Amino acid sequence: MAWDFETDPQYQELLDWADEFVTDQVEPLDLAFPHLQFTQLEGKRREAIDPLKAQVREKGLWATHLGPELGGQGYGQLKLALLNEILGRSQWAPIVFGCQAPDTGNAEIIAHYGTEEQKKQYLHPLLEGELFSCYSMTEPHAGADPTLFTTSAVRDGDDWVINGWKFFSSNAATASFLIVMVVTNPEVSAYQGMSMFLVPTDTPGVEIVRNVGLYGEADNHGSHALIHYDNVRVPAEALLGGEGQAFVIAQTRLGGGRIHHAMRTIGLAQKALDMMCERALSRETQGSRLSDKQFVQGYIADSYAQLLQFRLMVLYTAWEIDKYNDYKKVRKDIAAVKVAMPTVLHDIAWRAMQVHGALGVTNEMPFLGMVTGAAVMGLADGPTEVHKTTVARQVLRDYQPTTDTWPTEWIPRKRDAAKAKYAEYLEADIENTVGNL
Ligand SMILES: Cc1cc2nc3c(=O)[nH]c(=O)nc-3n(C[C@H](O)[C@H](O)[C@H](O)COP(=O)(O)OP(=O)(O)OC[C@H]3O[C@@H](n4cnc5c(N)ncnc54)[C@H](O)[C@@H]3O)c2cc1C
Repeated sequence: MAWDFETDPQYQELLDWADEFVTDQVEPLDLAFPHLQFTQLEGKRREAIDPLKAQVREKGLWATHLGPELGGQGYGQLKLALLNEILGRSQWAPIVFGCQAPDTGNAEIIAHYGTEEQKKQYLHPLLEGELFSCYSMTEPHAGADPTLFTTSAVRDGDDWVINGWKFFSSNAATASFLIVMVVTNPEVSAYQGMSMFLVPTDTPGVEIVRNVGLYGEADNHGSHALIHYDNVRVPAEALLGGEGQAFVIAQTRLGGGRIHHAMRTIGLAQKALDMMCERALSRETQGSRLSDKQFVQGYIADSYAQLLQFRLMVLYTAWEIDKYNDYKKVRKDIAAVKVAMPTVLHDIAWRAMQVHGALGVTNEMPFLGMVTGAAVMGLADGPTEVHKTTVARQVLRDYQPTTDTWPTEWIPRKRDAAKAKYAEYLEADIENTVGNL
């Protein structure tokens, strides 16, 4: 009997350490150095953060997202999920633990598809946490449908020359390099005609036109770049994987990225639930505590049940990834997790915000940030609607149409068959009762 919901005690000890460490040392970084987690460490900030990273390394919890064959610790996705639940509470925690998006997904594809030289130049410093990376795929006119992308790379002698526009390239402003998805052969289908390139951000012709911010962020101080690739010349060695491999590579990257977001979302939603419960127990109105009001009890019960379902779904999917070591085989469940994620965070954060009254909607509490985060999760790495169609298509693969006019479960026919099967046991009165059902 292999189903088991217990954590190995040795790993639980590490998780307990991480839990305390994140609370005491890392969550305060979110307030001391807000929104700076993707800025190069220097000066006093490096002095504060390097020793924290060193403690994580000492515990063997650094960069746990990659297997040993790819240069990581090899914890697997299930253990990573349990750790990421803790890290999800803090914006700085993934940086301090060396497993922040989008660098995790980017590291994963360089580890899988990169040449030795590319690994030396990009993967190793990325795993050391010494540089940041950016995944540049979405275009201003097309996001959910990559077959519409037009940014292209054309061969010129030993080089490739990239031209076009990319939108929402997160962290481009501080990244050392960009992974750019472009058309290299317009004559064939996009699935065979697109490729990925590793492009240092300081390559002439890479022009960050605007750093788009999310709601509430100052103009041009956001993290999501509109980039003009204007005759960007890169050598043939900048190609990642083979020519025409972009879709295969993208699937590898996005599969991992989506489940990692989900793991961290558990931690964030749990934080919202914790805050809701504390407030419900602490605030009195109209003669009783909020926790005694049935509406509020309903918020707590619904949130608990929603989070538990989501957590089990994420842990199960992580376990499947470890078991099959093939994202394609787990595509349905990764997509289902991606579909569920924004709703779970939105609903729990929204209820927690409501229970906090006016204070809940202020910038003195984190709830509106969480609600915006939920909206982002419904778009980043592909919109919910697209993932729902993936789930539905995969689910439908296990079914066959019937050629009969009546559905297989049509009761009159099944009843006749049941009566025939048990005819010798049916007494007249029972037969009548069954007949009248
Ligand atoms: C915070 C954030 C960070 C991001 N980071 C990156 C990044 O680092 N790199 C990068 O390349 N991109 C990034 N993206 C972009 C993201 O991948 C795209 O936003 C996403 O793929 C959707 O593309 P779009 O915004 O162009 O929407 P569109 O493709 O225009 O779709 C708009 C809407 O149309 C509907 N829709 C689309 N397709 C379908 C369909 N098949 N069936 C039904 N309805 C559909 C959905 O409601 C969808 O939201 C990021 C986005 C966000 C919000």
